Amino acid sequence: MLLTLRDVTKSYTTVEGRLEILRGIDLDLDAGESVALTGESGSGKSTLLHLAAGLDRADAGEIVSSGLSLARLDDKGRAEYRRRSVGLVFQQFNLIPSLDVAANISFHAKLAGRHDPAWESELVALLGVETLLSRYPEQLSGGQQQRVAIGRTLAAKPPLVLADEPTGNLDEATGDAVLSVMLSLTKSAGAALLMVTHSLRLAGKLDRRVHLHRGKIA
Ligand code: ADP
Ligand code: MG
Repeated sequence: MLLTLRDVTKSYTTVEGRLEILRGIDLDLDAGESVALTGESGSGKSTLLHLAAGLDRADAGEIVSSGLSLARLDDKGRAEYRRRSVGLVFQQFNLIPSLDVAANISFHAKLAGRHDPAWESELVALLGVETLLSRYPEQLSGGQQQRVAIGRTLAAKPPLVLADEPTGNLDEATGDAVLSVMLSLTKSAGAALLMVTHSLRLAGKLDRRVHLHRGKIA
């Protein structure tokens, strides 16, 4: 297994008291597998992704990703885990405004020590962004920005891609095109994909779907 969650719980303390969001999550992701995570708004989908990304800590339970037990890592270890072993794609494209497309695409790969110009050229061609390399993010459409964001993520060859409603800011046709290129690219990179979506139609394009309801995976 590339990613395993066992009996993972997470609650938030708010002014209204304790909110128990995840109440015992079990989930397994094989290397190269694509899994859709669905659930109502507020059910904890983003929370679960943040835990798997090492952006936040679970209250209890175990998360093992790329052979690392995340609870045993300190802040530095988790930062290192994120750099080496995870790629994140968000609804907001999060490109670096001061860098052109080419530099945005190679940025994380360079940080991760995995800058591979041949792989980056291949990605650029597959994403259809060859003519955009010297543009800046503000000069791109939403669909183009998300293609670049996917290229930036995959350039570093992460074994696990975590995507939180990656087509949520795109119209349906653009979103479908972006999703299909993301699916084929994660497959050809051999990466596993865990993708949050509220669309059953989009979820149907992945290998498998899991549903989060009342803090558990159904
Ligand atoms: P989803 O992505 O499924 O819409 P989230 O994981 O974002 O749900 O949030 C689950 C619940 O936890 C929501 O009720 C949300 O308001 C609450 N929540 C999320 N993050 C925090 C936080 N940092 N502090 C307090 N409550 C939070
Ligand atoms: Mg969310």
